[in-house]
Amino acid sequence: MTEQLRINLEKLAAKEVGTVSFAEPLSFHNSWKIGGSADLFIEPDNSDQIAEILRFVLANDIPLVVIGQGTNLLFDDAGVRGVVLKIGERMADIQISGGSIVAGGGTWVPQLSRMSMQAGLSGLEHCIGIPGTVGGLVMMNGGSQRKGIGENVVNVTIVSRDGHLKKLTQSDCRFAYRYSSLQGTGCVVVAVELNCPAGDRKNNRREMVNDLRSRRQKFPRKQPNCGSVFLSTTEMHTTLGPPGKIIEDAGLKGLQVGQAEVSQQHSNFIVNLGGASSADVLTLIRQIRGEIRQMLGFELDCEVRYVSPQGDITPAHFKADAFDLSGK
Ligand SMILES: Cc1cc2nc3c(=O)[nH]c(=O)nc-3n(C[C@H](O)[C@H](O)[C@H](O)COP(=O)(O)OP(=O)(O)OC[C@H]3O[C@@H](n4cnc5c(N)ncnc54)[C@H](O)[C@@H]3O)c2cc1C
Repeated sequence: MTEQLRINLEKLAAKEVGTVSFAEPLSFHNSWKIGGSADLFIEPDNSDQIAEILRFVLANDIPLVVIGQGTNLLFDDAGVRGVVLKIGERMADIQISGGSIVAGGGTWVPQLSRMSMQAGLSGLEHCIGIPGTVGGLVMMNGGSQRKGIGENVVNVTIVSRDGHLKKLTQSDCRFAYRYSSLQGTGCVVVAVELNCPAGDRKNNRREMVNDLRSRRQKFPRKQPNCGSVFLSTTEMHTTLGPPGKIIEDAGLKGLQVGQAEVSQQHSNFIVNLGGASSADVLTLIRQIRGEIRQMLGFELDCEVRYVSPQGDITPAHFKADAFDLSGK
């Protein structure tokens, strides 16, 4: 950390911006349990604090990374030289009125899905097993069974990179498969309004129980992981099948680099066997992509995002492809 950065981070931490900690281990804040430390880690309580943080980091040219539960992120072993802003429990809230649900950006997705079902609404059943926040879900247009949360979005409240509170409509967000136009803008999702039609509570509950049961059988549960590593595009799905099948058919199940392994249970998952580094995961991603490219002439792109020490967030294969195998 440079002296100027240290002085600026101390100034920011002294403001009323929520709970702050210096040199926070990022391995505590992502489901892979990988990564160095963040120079300054902040958990804000409200959008005013977020706006103040965003204005300060912009004015002082400080790298900023926004995270939810870190279930789709690979942090670098070198951590983040700047601010990591966690939108979590402090910004969690669910309000239901008729078919409209307004949820805070830090709301836990399975809870949102369950409460919607209990209120007799439908449309969020497919989200029951997604272990992230509403902010992360909207950003990634996450979902399962080939659905995405964007289908239910009415509007999204953000704090823009320059610190202004704005409401965006569904069409502003240009949702597509695991994409929203909010990606890369540096905004913070503070709330979302969803439209959920009335549904059959019993059927929806059954569907959700079945989904959770099938996830428990299919996905590794005890070893830290980040869910599906590679995207399953429609084109790939119809011609070759889902990424897990492609990787398994290629004989890569169980492939290991350092302490990172292609899961024995589901080949689209990479598990941390204990003490895996980001270098281990990136090298493994690079090897899988290389093998599949050579065998099938097909590019497996990552759903998982890599966070650089400078705070840039990109699909992990961008970094994996550029990764120096000597470990630099
Ligand atoms: C076991 C397991 C199963 C999974 N199953 C699925 C699945 O079925 N479907 C699916 O789509 N995903 C799945 N995932 C991936 C992940 O849970 C989702 O992408 C989730 O929506 C990410 O939420 P998060 O809060 O963890 O976001 P993070 O991983 O913290 O962040 C993801 C991205 O969103 C941004 N972000 C997060 N919060 C905010 C915010 N408030 N404002 C602005 N930007 C923000 C981050 O900068 C980052 O770019 C799974 C993951 C695991 C570990």
